[in-house]
Amino acid sequence: MNDYQIEMNLSQSRKQKPAFDNLQFGRNFTDHMFIMDYTEGKGWHDPRIVPYQPITLDPSATIFHYGQTVFEGLKAYQTKDEQILLFRPNKNMERLNRSSARLCMPQIDEELALYGLKQLINVERDWVPNLEGTSLYIRPFIISTEAHLGVSPSLTYQFIIILCPVGAYYKEGINPVKIAVETEYVRAVRGGTGNAKTAGNYASSLKAQEVAGKSGYSQVLWLDGKENKYIEEVGSMNVFFKIDGEVITPELNGSILDGITRDSIILLLKHWNIPVKERKISIEEIYQASKEGKLEEAFGTGTAAVISPIGELFWKEKLLVNNGETGSLSKKLYETLTGIQNGSLVDPFGWRVLV
Ligand SMILES: *Cc1c(COP(=O)(O)O)cnc(C)c1O
Repeated sequence: MNDYQIEMNLSQSRKQKPAFDNLQFGRNFTDHMFIMDYTEGKGWHDPRIVPYQPITLDPSATIFHYGQTVFEGLKAYQTKDEQILLFRPNKNMERLNRSSARLCMPQIDEELALYGLKQLINVERDWVPNLEGTSLYIRPFIISTEAHLGVSPSLTYQFIIILCPVGAYYKEGINPVKIAVETEYVRAVRGGTGNAKTAGNYASSLKAQEVAGKSGYSQVLWLDGKENKYIEEVGSMNVFFKIDGEVITPELNGSILDGITRDSIILLLKHWNIPVKERKISIEEIYQASKEGKLEEAFGTGTAAVISPIGELFWKEKLLVNNGETGSLSKKLYETLTGIQNGSLVDPFGWRVLV
């Protein structure tokens, strides 16, 4: 189907694997990584799989000073019969290119990136954990590497994919979190980089997270940067509300990240004939719905947790959602989506990609 040439330089030694029943997120990396280079005028070149290792950059490299970088996050799952599945990985490569375009970074060949990822996972098959809820987390990213302090797009880049086995997000069943509505800090603004998966968005979100954490909340609910009124996201996840039988999620407005889990949930709800709307929704509307007893469920969505139910919201006062318990729709969405991802349920949408 393709004639991509990926150079293989495999490691002479293999690491001791961590126990798959006690994995910490993002701490144990596999034996190899995929890497390719970009040089202005030449394009992307030298795709290769090499031993996992530190990268050496000039201290003046643009990435360190101006943060010209983008990333992705997706997972590979091992099925009961030892197949390895990816979930809509083409969407991640497309989004990586959209993020890059926003940051004045070069486009990658999405097919080559996916081919390289599959080759890498093939080399690391033993690293894909097989216990319930576990997966291999995949982190593709691009960094700007030119040694130059001038503020302009870098002329050189590296595209890298690293892998790490991760444990079940929920160890004792899916459980709800407490969320504080953020009224001081904002995550993104219209015209900014909110819809790009780029490091700066995360760096600027840490403060609100820290403040909320000190008051016992696990994440913040972000409001829009202009009027501080409309809901955007929760932590680094998209957000959904079920009000009076209808599911609502903020419409993509340029400052909200276009989540693949979000998209999959909208398609699933439509498939089930459950009313779902993408529209502006204010925190006042949520508050009123809660007061009238119509706020039935709320949950965040993203690759890491898939569904993260919200049990409590703080805005003006403490608002309980579904008595602080996981709602039935949240549970059903979680079970269905994870079942499609890990191969235990049928995949009516053709979302799975076999490695
Ligand atoms: C990655 C991300 C999400 C979730 O996207 P998925 O594709 O569902 O993992 C949501 N919000 C932000 C800010 C993100 O960076």
